[in-house]
Amino acid sequence: MECIFCKIARKEIPSKIVYEDELALAFEDINPQAPVHILIIPRKHIHNNLSLTEEDKPLMGHLFLVANRIASEKGIAERGFRTVVNCNAEAGQTVFHLHLHLLGGRPMKWPPG
Ligand code: 5GP
Ligand code: ZN
Repeated sequence: MECIFCKIARKEIPSKIVYEDELALAFEDINPQAPVHILIIPRKHIHNNLSLTEEDKPLMGHLFLVANRIASEKGIAERGFRTVVNCNAEAGQTVFHLHLHLLGGRPMKWPPG
């Protein structure tokens, strides 16, 4: 699979991994937009939200629990953090392997740009 995040998951491309298990992998974003900017991905290749199926329901819940765990470890859980999933062009999706952005460590603006 010629997908950059599949390659990261297979460790063919190096990344700063902060968490991994049989279903998910979390690593630092190469171009961080906040003091904490971690990407949480399923090991399974999923193009984006629109490709999710019924069988992916537990997997998506798992990704959010992984985000919570990392937020706690990074000390941003109580301060506040944001989880973002961009879907398709106008949302700014550039890598077409579903991922949660975990952003924190600074005040966030609303509405997002
Ligand atoms: P998107 O715009 O698709 O929601 O987010 C893609 C994210 O992946 C961006 O924040 C970008 O900085 C990050 N990214 C792209 N290529 C790489 C890479 O090779 N390694 C890492 N660690 N992050 C990447
Ligand atoms: Zn992939």
